[in-house]
Amino acid sequence: MNSIKLKAHAKINLGLDVVRRREDGYHEVRMIMQTIGLYDKLTINRTNNNSIVINTNLHYLPTDENNLVYKAVSLIQREYHIEQGVYINLEKKIPVAAGMAGGSTDAATALYGMSRLFDLNLKKPELMKLGLRLGADVPYCIMRGTALSEGIGEILTPLPSFPACQVLIVKPGLSVSTKYVYENLKLDETTKHPDINGILTCIRTRDLYGAIGLFGNVLENVTIKEYPVIGEIKDKMTEWGAIGALMSGSGPTVFGLFDDIKKAEKAFYQFKVSELGKQVFLTDLYQPYY
Ligand code: ATP
Repeated sequence: MNSIKLKAHAKINLGLDVVRRREDGYHEVRMIMQTIGLYDKLTINRTNNNSIVINTNLHYLPTDENNLVYKAVSLIQREYHIEQGVYINLEKKIPVAAGMAGGSTDAATALYGMSRLFDLNLKKPELMKLGLRLGADVPYCIMRGTALSEGIGEILTPLPSFPACQVLIVKPGLSVSTKYVYENLKLDETTKHPDINGILTCIRTRDLYGAIGLFGNVLENVTIKEYPVIGEIKDKMTEWGAIGALMSGSGPTVFGLFDDIKKAEKAFYQFKVSELGKQVFLTDLYQPYY
């Protein structure tokens, strides 16, 4: 095999709580992760030299060792003594710096792709271990599906698949730094935490409406105060028919879940013509196969 084409899927958080700030500055989280149908396309080709060359449709993305795909390929080359180089085409569709783990899923997919392309036959647990060296969300992006993520994101428990529904993604035209959000999160007795255990129970009993009723993201305490448009998008999402709406990760992306495709399509067009969202996508939940 000289070339491999793969899809790198985005994630949303059905629940996100920060339990505590550790001595080393990392935050201990409890997040419910869900893979969605939105993806970047990654093509990896073997070349006749030893360099890693990345081409991408987003001119502002780094293509050197600062790109997570580059880091993933380089890690595999070092660990498995691969001297042959690769040429990678990365077609980005997942919004960047949006709370959807775009970079992490590209890295996860690059690890898997390299294993296939160079016949390394690495199993999921090995890939996940390597992935953790690239970022806390990378192991989840290798696992995919519905999962509980704890620790700094590396302790993963697979969950039964979340009931099927449409997902409307709206990203306002602003960038939110993950570092800023975590630094400004106050964890005291006034902080409103989501009921992660309650959501877990509903997922285990396949109670879609019960789970959605408990959805929450503790980081909204910081971002909605700073960027009210995130709150406005959430409100519009439910006004326009979503059964639940929440900010994903550290934002600013908001997702809405719909149990009616017609309502979802209508809301999609309403957001498209409104000033609220710069990037709008209608997709669904995605359950993995590898
Ligand atoms: P998370 O949900 O894990 O916080 P995110 O969606 O907020 O992730 P990313 O889209 O992964 O953030 O991008 C964060 C930064 O990583 C960007 O500033 C970008 O320059 C850099 N980056 C490096 N490689 C990639 C990549 N392959 N795709 C997107 N961003 C990348």
